[in-house]
Amino acid sequence: MDLQTLATVFTNNHMPSVVLKNKEDVLAYLREQIVDESTVAVGGSTTLFQFGIIDELRSRNLNFYDRYAPGLTPAQIQEVFHHSFNADAYIASANAVTLKGEIVNIDRTGNRVAAMMYGPKKVYLIVSASKVVKDLDEARERIRRVAAPKNAQRLNLKTPCVQTGYCMDCESPDRLCAFETVIKRQAIKDRIHVILVEEQGGF
Ligand code: SF4
Repeated sequence: MDLQTLATVFTNNHMPSVVLKNKEDVLAYLREQIVDESTVAVGGSTTLFQFGIIDELRSRNLNFYDRYAPGLTPAQIQEVFHHSFNADAYIASANAVTLKGEIVNIDRTGNRVAAMMYGPKKVYLIVSASKVVKDLDEARERIRRVAAPKNAQRLNLKTPCVQTGYCMDCESPDRLCAFETVIKRQAIKDRIHVILVEEQGGF
């Protein structure tokens, strides 16, 4: 299935979807969607840094709840997470998307998947083509082989997958995989936008 057909599948699941070529197109799309003075928050994501989205949000005339602002204490970061539920726009990525138009994620604290599912008025998910898989089984396999180990490494967690590069279904206190969510459809039509990107970004 090509990306354009997958975009139609998502749109039919009440999640409008577009196919964009690269990070410049993504930035232009978000500029058009998110008007000045909006309240914006983001989920934890390597893609957002790689595509220049965090820098862009910091430079715009927005009320940006910046979870990555230097010097935030853990308590202040928690406050940002709570404020994020009232944002006009929430931007994040996903760990995998299936050909049935499902969005699959694992999460440690749950703030990211919770905000995707409820709260912010609009959600923009920036998903590179490499995250497209056939079905839920392949999505879980992708998470076990790629997304979770690499994210555990990025977050400097003490989990076995950081060493092995593959999920060991650990019972580590640092375990990243506390929540697994599948978003299949939106009751609030057009709330989640799925932006499929040909350029590689994230894990
Ligand atoms: S369950 Fe543990 S070993 Fe498996 S991916 Fe998650 S953190 Fe890594």
